[in-house]
Amino acid sequence: MGVHMQVIIALLLGIKRNGHIFIGLLLGILTGVFFPHESYPNVYNILNFIGQAFINIIQMVVLPLIISAIIIGISNIGDSKQLTKFGSKMILYYGIITVLAVTIATAVAIILEPGLSAKGLINPDIMTHIQTYVSDAIQYQKENMTQIFMDLIPRNPFLALAQGKMIPIIIFVTIFAIALTKAGEISRPLVSLFESIFAATMKVTDWIMYLAAPGIFALTAASVSNFGIDVFQNISKYVIAIVAALLIQFFIVYPLMLKIFSKVPPFKLFAAISEAIMVAFGTASSSATLPLTITCCEKKGISNKVCSFVLPLGATLNMDGTAIIQTIAVIFLAQMYGIALTPLLIAEIAFLAIIASSTSAGIPGAGLITIALILNGIGLTPEQLVVGFSLLFTLERFLDMLRTICNVTSDAVVAAIIADNENELNYELLLGKSLETSEKQEA
Ligand code: ASP
Repeated sequence: MGVHMQVIIALLLGIKRNGHIFIGLLLGILTGVFFPHESYPNVYNILNFIGQAFINIIQMVVLPLIISAIIIGISNIGDSKQLTKFGSKMILYYGIITVLAVTIATAVAIILEPGLSAKGLINPDIMTHIQTYVSDAIQYQKENMTQIFMDLIPRNPFLALAQGKMIPIIIFVTIFAIALTKAGEISRPLVSLFESIFAATMKVTDWIMYLAAPGIFALTAASVSNFGIDVFQNISKYVIAIVAALLIQFFIVYPLMLKIFSKVPPFKLFAAISEAIMVAFGTASSSATLPLTITCCEKKGISNKVCSFVLPLGATLNMDGTAIIQTIAVIFLAQMYGIALTPLLIAEIAFLAIIASSTSAGIPGAGLITIALILNGIGLTPEQLVVGFSLLFTLERFLDMLRTICNVTSDAVVAAIIADNENELNYELLLGKSLETSEKQEA
């Protein structure tokens, strides 16, 4: 049986195991189709409220989880030699996955030429709505390029914490965790405290997952009801290009990476994380999905040492799905405006997409905002942008849901590969036995 078939079967099995979430998803799509936003604003408002409340509840545990996970992860790894090994492997695999993503995205965008069919097709309503927002964002990026990078260094880590700025937080926590490890025995009580925080946040995640079905239902229904099917026809080629690139990444690149760099059977990993995949789709947020990604991976035998180091960093920095969308979106805009796509320009777009995607936060919509960074990098003017940008926003939420699936899955793929390479993967759990059974047997 081909590996793609196996992955599909694995996903179906995973869906069966998490049937309630899947039913929530399907009912959400149907509700969204039958209650479009323009005709039923009240229904939309209620759905949006419930969905947003669900996202907020999950977000509530994300900060304590990321901080405690990184501290435990680094202190578990212990000596600096091992840390360098883990760290460099992580950067290597995340790098390979993202480079492949932008290569595929570039190829698809050049072959399908989505921008040509969109020339002159602009939805005036949405355009006016987005106009101010986009030009402000771009103006800000342009004027503050150096400041943006400077802001990544947290002058006041508590301020960064209060503002939920992920990259500065990660930079601080990583340095702090390495220092704790170096400090030796004296840091033990603090590390234990973070172990307790981690355990408690995972418990809260378990509870939150009881709300997953209604939460995913409301989120999906609200976004589908907002789509506007007519608009879809105008940018169908752009959507097709993105979906094609994401599918190639999901069904070819991930299984290949697992096959080449590890002994992990792709379908086992996909089945293990199917719950996280559905939540990623519903929430369009890798950060919000992180608690569940960790639970799924640990349950299936990837050690806490690997999960707590690789997954939180991945949820913030590894955004290959986002890189795909950004590459295609910028090529789409270039084609729309008749800009000559020389090999040098294409390479620049791809390179900037790698940077821009990894500076995108794991929250809904972040990837479309950081596209401004790429456009600035290749010298496009805000005036040119505004018109095309409004088109990109038309189906944004749906595409965000799809790219977040890739963002989350690739984190798990890299975690599995590193766990395999470093003997941190319990194959018995991955290949079948549940954690409970194995714990019972150990007892
Ligand atoms: N929503 C994406 C994520 O959370 C980020 C993006 O907007 O591309 O992974």
